Amino acid sequence: MAAVELVPSLFPERKPLTPAQIAAGVQAALTVQRRAVTFGKRPFAAALVGPDNETVLLTHQSVDQVNHAESSLARLAYKHYTKEYLWQCTLFSTWEPCGMCTTTIYWAHIGRIVFAGSNDQLYELTGPGNKENFTMDWHTRDILKGCQQKNIEVIGPLEEESRIVVEESDKYWSKTRTASS
Ligand SMILES: [Zn+2]
Repeated sequence: MAAVELVPSLFPERKPLTPAQIAAGVQAALTVQRRAVTFGKRPFAAALVGPDNETVLLTHQSVDQVNHAESSLARLAYKHYTKEYLWQCTLFSTWEPCGMCTTTIYWAHIGRIVFAGSNDQLYELTGPGNKENFTMDWHTRDILKGCQQKNIEVIGPLEEESRIVVEESDKYWSKTRTASS
């Protein structure tokens, strides 16, 4: 049974995103990713946008291989805001959130995920045996299928934005791919 029928107060209506808002949210995450790479971090980043679909509330870059941008941001968001508020927010990510991050977003009760590049595209960039990222073979929607109580909206991959994200991220991954890939 969907939780919205039992505790409707935790599921306020979410304002649909316009294409311009989607582009702006991805851009906010990409700006963080660009900066992160200059500090030697891996090219992953996320931005939390508020219920108005415009205000950037918090951002996070990838810290290391167990402190990913999206799950770190989701934990931070949950410390700052209420469930009711977060249900109306959107987490924008340059890349498709992994299993750990998708599940943390679920527990943080963030109502919408938008990502630019897909996990399949990431695997192509990182290649096999990349010690900086042993990319997993699963998808955000597959993980959320196991969570029937909440209908977290997922938008992505985005054709145009993913091209930019792939191109920029490849500058990092091309240096870390194993020789055989
Ligand atoms: Zn992750």
